[in-house]
This record gives sequence, structure tokens and C-alpha cells, in this order.
Amino acid sequence: MSQKASSKRNNKQASQVKPSSLPPLFSETFGTETVQITVGDDGFKRTFTVHKNLLASKSRFFSAIFDSNFLEAVTSNASFPDDDPSAFEALMEWIYYDSLKTIGLNSNHTQEEGRENMRKIIATLGLADKYCIDELADRCLTILYHRSREYVSCKLDLDMIAFIYEETGPISMARKYAASELAAAVTATSVLDLRVRSKSAIITALRISEICKQNRDILDDLFKAITARPQSPGPTTGTCQFHLHPKVAVCPYRGMDEEVAVRPKEDSLYCGCGRSRSRCNDRQARTGKRCPAFGRPR
Ligand SMILES: [Zn+2]
Ligand SMILES: [Zn+2]
Repeated sequence: MSQKASSKRNNKQASQVKPSSLPPLFSETFGTETVQITVGDDGFKRTFTVHKNLLASKSRFFSAIFDSNFLEAVTSNASFPDDDPSAFEALMEWIYYDSLKTIGLNSNHTQEEGRENMRKIIATLGLADKYCIDELADRCLTILYHRSREYVSCKLDLDMIAFIYEETGPISMARKYAASELAAAVTATSVLDLRVRSKSAIITALRISEICKQNRDILDDLFKAITARPQSPGPTTGTCQFHLHPKVAVCPYRGMDEEVAVRPKEDSLYCGCGRSRSRCNDRQARTGKRCPAFGRPR
């Protein structure tokens, strides 16, 4: 008992010596200024009132529009008609609480609930890409990966892959992941070999060729995924090859399959501007110092 108590005391002493290890003050984190963000179009619209400081500290995109001379900064109002309000809800939960219960899924869900959940994860991932929040993108991709392997209803089928391409941009890791899954299916199908030609293999091949005809990006990425040689350094299996965080010995998301999982302990993996350390535009930030292009500590 005494050992535990003394280690507790030591922790307390240590945190008194090092004030930087204390969480930032509530008032400093949130500030007093709020901004209004309207998301969605006339069909389905939602307005969020958000603390400006907090929002800006998580994404350089928002800091750029609200700490500027743009109309959005002057009026403290922004509108994103193309964004999905329910995905934005997940983004807000992550910004305020650091959790993602909004994209959680009951283990006894229906088929349609499972598919709806996947669409929500993908849409949230799309927002993380759009607003340059690498940590959120990594987490969403991890959840997507595990979900698609855990539940039949969450399978990454061709419709889901097409949806990933709808919601993300050309350099998205979600696209890279989707293309690699598709490549695995193509390789397994191997229609050219008559001996293993089966009805389902032919149907899969036809559908893949159909989807590639409709979406040229999918065809290009599929070709790249099939012809790619494993790249070093960095792991070539599991979710980590699709993560944006700097390549470290142990992936902070390893074994993480829950939407409520805690964030990586290594704060230094992500920069204060929202980017992964290795992807920040600032050279100093890439080597572990705070991003001078963006003064707020994480
Ligand atoms: Zn990783
Ligand atoms: Zn940065």
C-alpha cells in the first residue's frame, strides 16, 4: 500500500516541479470568443457554436479562416454547405472531448446500421483530411480498418470504396487503404487463370472493372497498389502503413479498435498546427519543436 501511496506522492511532486505537464487552464484553452459554423445544405443543416481558440488550436485551417481578415473572421460566421452535419458532429466531439463516441457502433446492430456507421466514419475521415487534422484522420482510419474486419455489415465492399473516393481527395490515406483492399481482392480473384475461375470471381472482376470505368482515380490507384513494391522504412502490414503520424517503433494505435480509445501518449507525434510532425510545413516543427508557424502548444 505504502509503495503505491509514495509513488502517487512522487508523481504529484514531479508534476509540481514540471508545470508544463499540467493540463492547460480551462479558460485559456477555450477562451471566451465563440464562432458559429453552419454545416449542410437546405436538406439537412445544423449550426454549431464553437470556442474559437479551441477550434484554432486543433486545426490550422480554422485558425486561418477565423484569425484573418476573411469575412468569416469579421463576422465570426462560417458556412460549409458541402459538409455532412453528422460527420461534423463527430469532428466537434473529437475537438472538445478527444473521443469519438459519435461514430461508435453497438455490437448487435442491424445490417443497415452497420453500413450507416461506416459511411459516417468515412465522412468524418473526409473532414479530417479537408481540415488538415492528421490525428483525427489516423484515428478514423484505425476504426474503419478494425470495423471492416470485425463485422460483416461493415465490410469494405465496392460501394464503400466508391464512397471513400467521394469523400476524400487524391492524396488521402483512406484512398490508399481502399485501393490496397481492392488490389487484394483482384489478386485473389485472378480471372485470367481458368482453373480457378469461379462464378463469384467473375462477378467480382466485372464489378471491379465497372467501378474503375466510372471512376478513373480508383483505376489509377488500383494499378499503383498492384504494382507497388513494399516501401521501407516503416511497417508494410496492418493499419500503420496508412497512418500519417511519423514512423515510430510502436504504432500508438496498435491494438486500438475502440472509438473511445485514448489518444497516443506521445504528444510530439502531431504538431500544433494539426499536421503530423513529419508532414508539417515547418522544418523546426518536423524535428520535434513546436510549430513556429503556429504558436499554440498542444
Ligand atoms: Zn500507426
Ligand atoms: Zn506544424
